[in-house]
Amino acid sequence: MVGIVVVTHSAVLGQGVKELAEQMTQGRVPLAVAGGIDDPEHPIGTDPVRVMAAIEEVQQGDGVLVLMDLGSALMSAETALDLLPPEVAAQVRLCAAPLVEGVMAAAVQASIGADLETVAREAESALAAKAELLGMAPPQGEAAPDVAPDAASPVPPAPIVAGGQELTLVVPNRLGLHARPAARIVTALGPFVADVHLVRGDRVVSARSVNRIATLAVRGGDTVTFRATGADAAHALKALADLAAENFGDLPDAAMSSGKSITAGPDGQGKPAAAGAPAARGGVPASPGIAMGPAVWHRPAFDAPPPSLVAGDPDSEAARLEAALDAARKELAALERRTAAMAGKQEAEIFVMHRLLLDDATIAGDARQRIAERHEPAEAAWYAVIDLAAESFRQLPEGYMRERAADLVDVGARVLRLLTGAPPSGPRLDRPSVLLAADLGPSDMAHLDPALVLGIVTAQGGATSHAAILARSMGIPAVAGAGALAANVADGVTVALDGSTGEVWIAPAPDVRASIESRRAAWLAAREAALAGAARPAVTTDGRHVHVHANIGAPADAPPALKNGAEGVGLFRTEFLFLDRAAAPDEEEQRAAYVAAAAAMPGLPVVVRTLDIGGDKPVPYLGDFAAGEDNPFLGLRGIRFCLARRELFLTQLRALLRAAAEHPLRVMFPMVAHPGELAAAKAMLEEARAALAAEGLPHGPVEVGIMVEVPAAVALADQLARESAFFSIGTNDLAQYVMAADRGNAAVADLSDALHPAVLRMVRDTVAAGNAAGIPVAMCGELAGSAEAIPLLVGLGLDELSMNGPAIPRAKDVVRGCDMAACAKLAERALELPDAAAVRRLLKGGG
Ligand code: PEP
Ligand code: MG
Repeated sequence: MVGIVVVTHSAVLGQGVKELAEQMTQGRVPLAVAGGIDDPEHPIGTDPVRVMAAIEEVQQGDGVLVLMDLGSALMSAETALDLLPPEVAAQVRLCAAPLVEGVMAAAVQASIGADLETVAREAESALAAKAELLGMAPPQGEAAPDVAPDAASPVPPAPIVAGGQELTLVVPNRLGLHARPAARIVTALGPFVADVHLVRGDRVVSARSVNRIATLAVRGGDTVTFRATGADAAHALKALADLAAENFGDLPDAAMSSGKSITAGPDGQGKPAAAGAPAARGGVPASPGIAMGPAVWHRPAFDAPPPSLVAGDPDSEAARLEAALDAARKELAALERRTAAMAGKQEAEIFVMHRLLLDDATIAGDARQRIAERHEPAEAAWYAVIDLAAESFRQLPEGYMRERAADLVDVGARVLRLLTGAPPSGPRLDRPSVLLAADLGPSDMAHLDPALVLGIVTAQGGATSHAAILARSMGIPAVAGAGALAANVADGVTVALDGSTGEVWIAPAPDVRASIESRRAAWLAAREAALAGAARPAVTTDGRHVHVHANIGAPADAPPALKNGAEGVGLFRTEFLFLDRAAAPDEEEQRAAYVAAAAAMPGLPVVVRTLDIGGDKPVPYLGDFAAGEDNPFLGLRGIRFCLARRELFLTQLRALLRAAAEHPLRVMFPMVAHPGELAAAKAMLEEARAALAAEGLPHGPVEVGIMVEVPAAVALADQLARESAFFSIGTNDLAQYVMAADRGNAAVADLSDALHPAVLRMVRDTVAAGNAAGIPVAMCGELAGSAEAIPLLVGLGLDELSMNGPAIPRAKDVVRGCDMAACAKLAERALELPDAAAVRRLLKGGG
C-alpha cells in the first residue's frame, strides 16, 4: 500500500490532518506526520530528519507520497530525499497538492490499493472540488474532472459503452455525498473492475474519485445515477445499492438533526461524542489482559514446495489435486456458513469469492495440464499456477487487482496445505505485535510465540471459540468477533486492546496510549503477584479443599499449567490433535501424546476427553458431516460422531488404554445425552481392551466419567451418575443448549452466558445428583476460570474447577478467600435472579 507523509510546521496541525485521514480510511493507510521541530521553546518549523524517519516508517514497497504545507517544508522534504538510501528515495514522490484536501484524497485512494501514480494524481486534483463549488475554474495545472465537468456541458448521450447498467436513486442521507460518503463509494468499488460513473443532472464524473464526486455537490434528496460497464458491473451496482440502503454510512437523519454533537469513530461512522472518550470499539472479551503494539495480519503461508519433491504417476497426482480441491471447497463452505452465522452474510462473502477462485477453470486446468504434460507433483503444479496468476495480478496498476492477488494466494495456500498435509506454519512475527486475523485455528495458535504476540484481535469468533480458549491458556490478551473493525486495519498501525472488556483502539491518540500503557503495567503486576502463591492448595477459610485443575489442548500445555499451580489436568481436549492436518493421528501418535501429557503431571490426575469434533470444527478428512448438516451443533458431534465412526473411536480408545499402562488416566466422554450412549461407549472401551489383551499389548485401568453439557444429561443425571466415576460440567455447551443461543454468535452472547440462572440451576442439579451417588463433580467450562464467578461456584458445591493455566493462580487466591456458608448464601440468591446481568451485579456486590 502507498504510504503518506505529512510535513507541517506544526505538530498539532499534522496530528489533526492525520486523525481526519484515519477517520476516512479506518486507519488502513500507513500515514506518518513530520511536524514541528525538536525545540520546546520554538516548536514551529520543519526538520529533514523527522521527514526521513516518517518516510521510513510508512514505506511498504509501494511508494510514499509526501505532502507539505509551505515554505521550508518543501526544502526539508527535498533534503530528506538526499538523506535516504537512493533505492528508498526513488520510491518517494513529493506532491504539490494542498495539504488537507490532498492528504484526504490521497489516503482514500491509497486505502483501496491504488498505485503511487494514481494516489498522486488524485491528491493533485484535490482543489478541483472546492473550485467547482465556489464557481471558479480549477487551478492551473490541475486535472479537469474527467467527463463533462462543466455545468454548461450536457452529459453526452452515450458516455459509456453499450451494455452498461444503471442504478438511479434518491440520496437518502441529509448531508448528501460529502467527503466521507464519497470515500465509502470509492472504497465499495475497490474490489470491482467495472468502470463506474456518477451522474447528477447533466454532469457525469468518475465514481472512483472522491474529488470528482465532490464536484457534483450532491445533497440529500437529490436524484443521482450510477452507470457501470464491465464484467462485474451488476455486482458493483449491487454494492452501491447496499451502501445507499445504509444511508451511505451516515447516521440516520433523526440522530443527525437531534442537535447532539457528532464525531467520527475509527470506522468513520458518526456517533455521539463523549468528551475525552477514547475511540474504542467493541468485540467480545476473549482473554483477559491489556496489550498495545503494531498490527500484523496473519495470512496463511504460501511457500514453494521443495524441488526434491518426487511426482507419482500423472493420474495419481491429478487425483491428489482433485481431492485437495474438493477438501478446500468443503472447508470454505463450512467457514462461509459459520461466518454467516456468527458475523453476518456480508462478512461471509469473502469465502464465496474464494470458492469462485478455486473453481476458476483456467487455474485448475493449468495445474492439471502441468501434471499431465510436465509430470510435476501436484504441489509443484498448483504452486506454480497460483504464483504465476498472482504475480500477473500484482503487475496490474489497479489496486483492486492486487487485492485479488492476496485472495488467490490465500486460496492457493489452503489447497497446498491440504496437499502436503502440513499443519499451518502459524503467524510469522519478527517483533512484538498485535496479531490480527479473520480467525485462528488451533494449529495457528499452537505456533504462536507468546513473547512476540502481545495480543490478538480476530474478526470472527466468540469467547468460547477454540482460538479464544487457547489464547486464555497461553495468557495472551484477546478480543474476538471484532468484525469489520479488524478487517480494515493495515499492518503497522498501532492497535490496542483490553481482553477483559472487549475494547479495541485503532491508532489511539497519545493521551489514550498513555492510559492504556499504565493499565497494562497494572495488569502485568497483578499477574506476577498471583503467581507467587500458585503452588499452595486452594482451601477455603473453613477448610474445604477445592481442586484446581488445568484445561489443555496439547501435551505442551501441561508443564506451564503445572507451573501455574495446576493440581492435575481436568480436561485434555484431544480433538486438537486431529485438527488442521490431512489425516487422523494413528494409535501410536495418540498414545505418545497421552503419555506425554500424563508424564508432565507426575502423580496427579489427568482427564483425557475423547474426540469432540463436529459443530463448528470442520475436519475434512473425516468426511463431509459438518458441511452436510443444517445444524452442526445439533448434529453428529462428540460421542455421537465417535459411536458412528467405530474404527476411529476404537483407535483412540486403544491409545488411551495403552497410555494408561504407563500413567494412570481418566477417560471422559463428551456430549453424552443419555445412558444408552454412555453404555455404548463403555462397551467399545471394553472391546478395545479385549483386543489389546488378545494382541498381548500392555494396557492399564481407566476411570470413566462424562461431560455434563447437554440438558438431557442434567435431567438424567441420577441415572448417569450410577454409571460414571465422575462428572465434569461443560458450561460452554450447556449454556448454549439450555439457552438455545449459539456459543460463537456474538449477537446472542448475553443469552449464552453461563452465569444465567437457568444454567446455574442445571449446575445445582448436577452437583446434587453427583453428591447423591458419591461421585465428584467438576466444572471445566470457561466459567470455572472466571475469578468473579468462583465464590458462586464454590457455593454451588463443585469439588473441582478446571481452567486455562494462566487463570489458576488467581482462581486459587479467590478460593482461599471463600467461606463456605457465605458462598452457599450467595449461590442461593443467584439462583433466584432472572438473568445473567443480575447475577453479575450480585457478584460485583451490587445486587
Ligand atoms: C464445554 O462445553 O464447556 C467444554 C468444556 O467443552 P468444549 O468447550 O471443548 O466444547
Ligand atoms: Mg463442550
